[in-house]
Amino acid sequence: DVTATKGNDFEDYFLKRELLMGIFEAGFEKPSPIQEESIPIALAGRDILARAKNGTGKTAAFIIPALEKVNLTKSRIQTLILVPTRELALQTSQVCRNLGKHMGVQVMVTTGGTTLKDDILRLGQTVHILVATPGRVLDLAGKGIADLSECTMLIMDEADKLLSPEFQPIIEQLIAFCKPSRQILLYSATFPMIVKSFKDKYLNKPYEINLMDELTLRGVTQYYAYVEERQKVHCLNTLFSKLQINQSIIFCNSTSRVELLAKKITELGYSCFYIHAKMLQSHRNRVFHDFRNGKTRHLVCSDLLTRGIDIQAVNVVINFDFPKNAETYLHRIGRSGRFGHLGLAINLITYEDRFNLYRIEQELGTEIAPIPPVIDKSLY
Ligand code: ADP
Ligand code: MG
Repeated sequence: DVTATKGNDFEDYFLKRELLMGIFEAGFEKPSPIQEESIPIALAGRDILARAKNGTGKTAAFIIPALEKVNLTKSRIQTLILVPTRELALQTSQVCRNLGKHMGVQVMVTTGGTTLKDDILRLGQTVHILVATPGRVLDLAGKGIADLSECTMLIMDEADKLLSPEFQPIIEQLIAFCKPSRQILLYSATFPMIVKSFKDKYLNKPYEINLMDELTLRGVTQYYAYVEERQKVHCLNTLFSKLQINQSIIFCNSTSRVELLAKKITELGYSCFYIHAKMLQSHRNRVFHDFRNGKTRHLVCSDLLTRGIDIQAVNVVINFDFPKNAETYLHRIGRSGRFGHLGLAINLITYEDRFNLYRIEQELGTEIAPIPPVIDKSLY
């Protein structure tokens, strides 16, 4: 939340007095964690790629450094703040004016859907910080109405949306209009593949901030195998015989499928437990406890177990049924970052799952590769 903090104060950043006044008048007493991480780094001139949950104060995290860095004696656009929507542009410019109200900073907002005439008039006067949606500002820059040649700070809020295929070409052209030595700050709640490739191309040794709840896919090798529904059990049997499983968790999407699969696995000659949401809590706890103590190698379950499955001995997780969304996927497969030991995740994918597979991969910014004939034991 926006108040939890390491104990820093806004005074610690040596901000201009007028800016500090604006911050306090806005009712901010202490920087939020994302602000604590961002402000000093941004002030030092580094590129930033930041991930933090909604409502954690990202806006001020980039606006405070932008306001601090602006040179008011120079009547040129020095900061461009890009946002994906008109509403967000208005809101962001409001925060900017509010925090900077004692500074005499000139903030302009422009979005699609209005005539260029007003913008031309406004840009004839001083603008230090421009808040805009990408299409409109590219139009203005392309026509020579907005001069970005002295723009040294480019900020993208909701960067995952700004870098969608719809916007990305526009963003790339805009970067070319800015000063080559520009600093780029990216803020996003999610971090899909598209943001990663942009980072590699345009950011200069970015400082990465990640304040999302620490479930990570780092250290987890992820594969998928295409399989028809009726071949799933056979496929699982093959995996059991080929993989060196220490302990495994096998996920199904419904309680009835959990019970059915556990029965089939037992019939195949493997020992396994199962748990699902319709079992009594006390029973579930006992099964989980026994599994944790190594009484059986395999555990079949539904999503009730998806939070906190950090059992060190589990080196393989199998999605017998592929989950419907990225969050569930992350909770099934993801591991606590700090203790992220190695693991293998195998997804059985039916024809119907294919779109979901692609979507979840994009959303999590991760790679789920086709399963190779032989899996290197050092990966798990
Ligand atoms: P995000 O972009 O991360 O979703 P916002 O920047 O919109 O979050 O901020 C959420 C709310 O928190 C806003 O109402 C904002 O005024 C408030 N806020 C931001 N920083 C602070 C702070 N340091 N102290 C108190 N409130 C803050
Ligand atoms: Mg925001």
